[in-house]
Amino acid sequence: MHVAENYQRIREEVPDNVTIVLAGKTRTPEEIREVIEAGATDIGENYVQEAEKMYDSLGEETKKVRWHMIGHLQKNKINKALRIFDVMQTVDSLEKAIDINKRAKETGRTVSVYIEINIGSEMTKAGIKPEYEVVENLVREISELEYLNLEGLMTMGPRFGDPKDSRPYFRETKDIFERIKALNLSRVKMETLSMGMSNSYKFAIEEGSNMVRLGTVVFGERNFKNP
Ligand SMILES: *Cc1c(COP(=O)(O)O)cnc(C)c1O
Repeated sequence: MHVAENYQRIREEVPDNVTIVLAGKTRTPEEIREVIEAGATDIGENYVQEAEKMYDSLGEETKKVRWHMIGHLQKNKINKALRIFDVMQTVDSLEKAIDINKRAKETGRTVSVYIEINIGSEMTKAGIKPEYEVVENLVREISELEYLNLEGLMTMGPRFGDPKDSRPYFRETKDIFERIKALNLSRVKMETLSMGMSNSYKFAIEEGSNMVRLGTVVFGERNFKNP
C-alpha cells in the first residue's frame, strides 16, 4: 500500500472544508509517520494504550497533527487520554463528560469534545439516542462544564447493508446538528459533524459531513492478528 499517495489522492478528492481523520488502529508508527509527512492533519485512535505507544514512538511528529479519541473511553484511562488527545469524539453521557471535565480541570487544560449519536439505534453500539430532545439536553448540560469545549457531533452510522443505505441516517444526524447549531448557545461552537468511514464517506459528505474518519481506504485492510 502506498499510504502517502492514497492519502493525497483522497485529500484532493474531498472538498476543502472536510477534515480527514486517519484512523490509526492496528497501523504501525511508520505508516502514521508517512501520512503525517504527506500532509495529514488529524489522527484518530480507538484505544488509549495503542495511542500511547504510537504517540511516544512518533516523537516530535505528534505535534504536527491533532489527536482524536474515536473509541470507547474508559473512566480509568481518562488521565492518560488527556496527555495525548486534543478531541474526545465519543462522549455519550453526562457522567462521562463530568469525568473528563474533572480530570481536565486537574491538569489545567481544556479539551474539545463531540457528542456521539447512535443514529441507527443499534443495541451494541455506543452513543446517545438519536432523538433531538435527548441531544439538546446533553448539549445544554455539557455546555456548563468549564473545561470542555463542545464543538461537534459524531456518529458511526449503521453498520449493516449497503453503505448508501446510510444516507437517511446521515441526513438525520445533519438535521440534529443544524438544530443544535441554531440554538446559538454561548459556550457551544457547534462546528464539526464527524461522520463517514471508508465505505461511506462519499455519501456522508453529500449529506453534510465535514469530518470523515478513514482507515482502510488509505492503509489497506486491517490485520487484527498483528495490532
Ligand atoms: C476504524 C474506525 C474508522 C475507520 O474505519 P475504516 O472502515 O477502516 O475506514 C472510523 N471510525 C471509527 C470510530 C473507527 O473505529
